Amino acid sequence: MSVTLDLSRATKAPAPAAPVNLTGLTRGQLSAALVESGAVEPAKAKMRTGQIWRWIQHFGVTDFEAMTDIDKATRAKLAERFTLARPEIVERQVSKDGTRKWLIRTAPGIEIESVFIPGVGRAGALCVSSQVGCTLNCTFCHTGTQALVRNLTAAEIVAQVQVCRDDLGEWPSPKEDRQLSNVVFMGMGEPLYNLDAVADAMEIISDNEGIALSRRRITVSTSGVVTELKALGERTQAMLAISLHATNDELREKLVPLNKKHPIAELMAAIRAYPGLSNARRVTFEYVMLKGVNDSPADAKALVKLVQGIPAKINLIPFNPWPGSPYECSDWGTIETFAAILNRAGYASPIRTPRGRDILAACGQLKSESEKLRASARRKLAAAG
Ligand code: SAH
Ligand code: SF4
Repeated sequence: MSVTLDLSRATKAPAPAAPVNLTGLTRGQLSAALVESGAVEPAKAKMRTGQIWRWIQHFGVTDFEAMTDIDKATRAKLAERFTLARPEIVERQVSKDGTRKWLIRTAPGIEIESVFIPGVGRAGALCVSSQVGCTLNCTFCHTGTQALVRNLTAAEIVAQVQVCRDDLGEWPSPKEDRQLSNVVFMGMGEPLYNLDAVADAMEIISDNEGIALSRRRITVSTSGVVTELKALGERTQAMLAISLHATNDELREKLVPLNKKHPIAELMAAIRAYPGLSNARRVTFEYVMLKGVNDSPADAKALVKLVQGIPAKINLIPFNPWPGSPYECSDWGTIETFAAILNRAGYASPIRTPRGRDILAACGQLKSESEKLRASARRKLAAAG
């Protein structure tokens, strides 16, 4: 019986390719897709692209029927050839402190976490992922213990912003009083190993006739992919954040193994040359506080010396432990002493309060814990069935 079924399947024509989702395309890609599909005549491409872009990126519609200034016949053609669907939300959690976390599935085995943190940035910041897993193995980072599954597409990066705005009820794009005001590429993965997709996603979410996030409120955090810094600045004008964590090569090599390839002196030179750096557009240095490892007053003084002359902010991140992590978080008093030394030297050095710890949404806690939750959910299901 099963053999018969298998054979009949094998002889069937392959399933048609999934329709292209228009919500993750840049304007140029959207225009090309509309014309190539035959749904829009080349002569009308510019007008139709503008209309459809606004429906998708300004109004956030997910149904072609809502596009009331487009004739019925064209809407039907569009619906036949394309989709505007959001990805599946596998899990949504809200923390006591208002932090929201989504686990989004964009394809089989491709699950992405993003976290919205109210009260960060101008109004609230969405922390997006750029890869599933990471090829780098920073020893304090849980994501770093997971192999890279793959780079996310621009559409998958934009989808994280769209899902967040659906949840916040922020369509059409508010001009003022928006809750989602900032985007930080500080979720899973190394954004500079996926620069093409990051740049396209930024183009989409910063477009003035759409989500219209200011590029000055979009921050890309890197562990120090020196060779891509110039391209990042020139292509995206993103605000730059550098995961520094140590002030000498010996220690940084242990914490951030990429430092073996790009030592601190090389990294600092590339930061000094970052396009557009000024007092109004400072680089943020991220520094994770690890007990007895990098948290002494001497370390703080070395940090001041290292960043001297660079328009900079320093963000101290209390270490978020994870099961089996080889570090502990510095004591609160130690962190305050460290911050005071930086402040005295003239550097704004906010201590990043851990947010959303109760829903496992804090830095370095992403993804892996969700896998654990899902594994336990699977066990429950298996036991029930
Ligand atoms: N790959 C990029 C961006 C993602 S990590 C990068 O490394 O910069 C975002 C920030 O979280 C980085 O500064 C990273 O060093 C920090 N981080 C990672 N694991 C952490 C943990 N367990 N506790 C606190 N911060 C962590
Ligand atoms: Fe990758 Fe950043 Fe984690 Fe390092 S800190 S392993 S670069 S996600």
